[in-house]
Amino acid sequence: MRIDLHNHTTKCNHATGTIDEYIQRAIELGVDIYGFSEHAPMNFDPYYRLSFEDMSCYEQDILTYKQIYKDDIEILLGYEVDYLKGYIDSRVIENRSVDYLIGSVHFLDKWGFDNPEFIGEYKNRDIDDIWQEYFDAIEDMAKTGYFDIVGHLDLIKVFKYLPQKDIRVIAQNALKAIKKSNMVIELNSAGLRKPIKELYPSKELLEVVYELDIPITFSSDAHSVEQVGFGYKEVIEIAKSIGYTKAVTFEQREKQLVNF
Ligand SMILES: [Zn+2]
Ligand SMILES: [Zn+2]
Repeated sequence: MRIDLHNHTTKCNHATGTIDEYIQRAIELGVDIYGFSEHAPMNFDPYYRLSFEDMSCYEQDILTYKQIYKDDIEILLGYEVDYLKGYIDSRVIENRSVDYLIGSVHFLDKWGFDNPEFIGEYKNRDIDDIWQEYFDAIEDMAKTGYFDIVGHLDLIKVFKYLPQKDIRVIAQNALKAIKKSNMVIELNSAGLRKPIKELYPSKELLEVVYELDIPITFSSDAHSVEQVGFGYKEVIEIAKSIGYTKAVTFEQREKQLVNF
């Protein structure tokens, strides 16, 4: 089974290509289960995500395509939700009829640390502190229990500013919280096309994830048709080399393990 659960649409204002084109490309690549997880609305940085008013329209669109393509591919409906203290909105995380919610940290306080526009901030602060702050946010996110999947676990490495301290030590409490909350970690290939040129999470962290018996799933984090299925072969090889043989898919927030 080939799974790809993290994909965007033009509704976030920073992606290109139609839903139909993404799905057709996924079918062409032999994807069996393909999920959309648009950036959920939030009253911060609102332009680069869905608006609250557009949520039902987005959901309807995906469900319509789910029907249209039901004989060719399984389409899932999800959201990628920003974890930013003070901005968690009940309209997103409560009673939403979706297959899964991805919890992601893209902001430390209000610093969009993965945005090249604000890269200068890395020079102003201690890199170990930045990394710890990031993984503390991941830990808090996991402890809320609101989410099913951890989005790009070590996104903080995106620009290759790496800590002095052992990353496994920095991440250890976050990983414990993820385990305790029964979350799944996505193997997100977007890192392979960013300056770090490495899967999220790194092999080093994935080994710890495996030791903790935390399940995984697969994501291309596509923001364009060309990015659908990006790096899949490489990602599968890494997953297998660590020892994984099964991945998780979801239906209405229920996990299901499948062979990949
Ligand atoms: Zn995005
Ligand atoms: Zn993201």
